[in-house]
Amino acid sequence: MRLEEIPTPAYVIDQGKLRQNLEILAGVQKAAGCKVLLAQKAYSLYKTYPLISQYLSGTTASGLYEARLGREEFDGEVHVFAPAFKDSEIDAVLATCDHIVFNSERQLRHHVDKSRAAGVSIGLRINPECSTQGEHALYDPCAYGSRFGVTAEQFNPNLLDLIDGLHFHTLCEQNADDLVTTLKAVETSFGQYLHQMKWLNMGGGHHITREDYDLDLLISEIKRIKATYQVEVYIEPGEAVALNAGYLATQVLDIVENGIETLVLDTSATCHMPDVLEMPYRPPLRQGFDAGEKAFTYRLSSNTCLTGDVIGDYSFEQPVLIGDRLYFEDMAIYSFVKNNTFNGIGLPSLYLMDEAGDCHLIKAFGYEDFKGRLS
Ligand SMILES: *Cc1c(COP(=O)(O)O)cnc(C)c1O
Repeated sequence: MRLEEIPTPAYVIDQGKLRQNLEILAGVQKAAGCKVLLAQKAYSLYKTYPLISQYLSGTTASGLYEARLGREEFDGEVHVFAPAFKDSEIDAVLATCDHIVFNSERQLRHHVDKSRAAGVSIGLRINPECSTQGEHALYDPCAYGSRFGVTAEQFNPNLLDLIDGLHFHTLCEQNADDLVTTLKAVETSFGQYLHQMKWLNMGGGHHITREDYDLDLLISEIKRIKATYQVEVYIEPGEAVALNAGYLATQVLDIVENGIETLVLDTSATCHMPDVLEMPYRPPLRQGFDAGEKAFTYRLSSNTCLTGDVIGDYSFEQPVLIGDRLYFEDMAIYSFVKNNTFNGIGLPSLYLMDEAGDCHLIKAFGYEDFKGRLS
């Protein structure tokens, strides 16, 4: 089936685009001599894990379930970080992962004996207190009061005997220049300890597959860190793995006029692209332009009861008609992983578009998926 024929709403993963991203990431891995992990919280369509595992070294998880998914479906290392691990889950986590990263001295001390006994490599998350992003305060783990990681002042050198590595994650959709700035702060505050570590995990937020990303700078920084401290380096991008590698196909159900012309779509920002409201951001739309740029401007909205369930105002070269299909772009990441069935809205089906442009249904959802989560 072609993209233009699939029933809506549906997410379509573009395997060719995914592969292009993976080739870039594998290139970094090879040139820098580091390991690249998929951060599953951004993208966990595990049907594509066999493809991704041909290029990347493993997965990282935000807790037990993602760790287990990575272990079951991805042939590679399993890393996990969580602000805290529950006593009721730690045994299962340790049975699943290769690396575990703790967020505080208390968590580390609480779980260290079991982690050692399980033969898992142990890390501690640090907070380099270096904010490099003004734009997305919601995504700044170095913001004042952040719960993430141990600051230089809090870092207790007695912990060095308990850990194998350090982990930081401070970037969000950023280029390599901000990594350089962050690494300076990391080295100033924690460089003395790094010499005793086996590895350094530089987290995610590296927008490596974006067109203007400075790959050479990333590679030279990783090589420099490896040479200076004799550590293995990990990076764990989420976004960069599936950036621009998916679409959300939707159809216009109605057009309502009240000062503004609003398209009622068979999709929803709050259910199917919550980051549009949370981050917030404006998703790219195929053949859609900024409001007012072309002759026909509409507000794109949803088939839910939430007034604010608006995706944005877009303009078009031609009038939009009821029944027309629209395609939101860059919808592979932070989209279906966050879906919900608010209003009893159905979950979009999942399709894989092969390199010839044919779309194959991976999974369709129905009433049972809505009812099955309730009781
Ligand atoms: C979110 C997150 C990632 C992935 O971040 P992206 O911005 O999707 O690259 C990696 N590591 C940790 C610890 C994270 O919280």
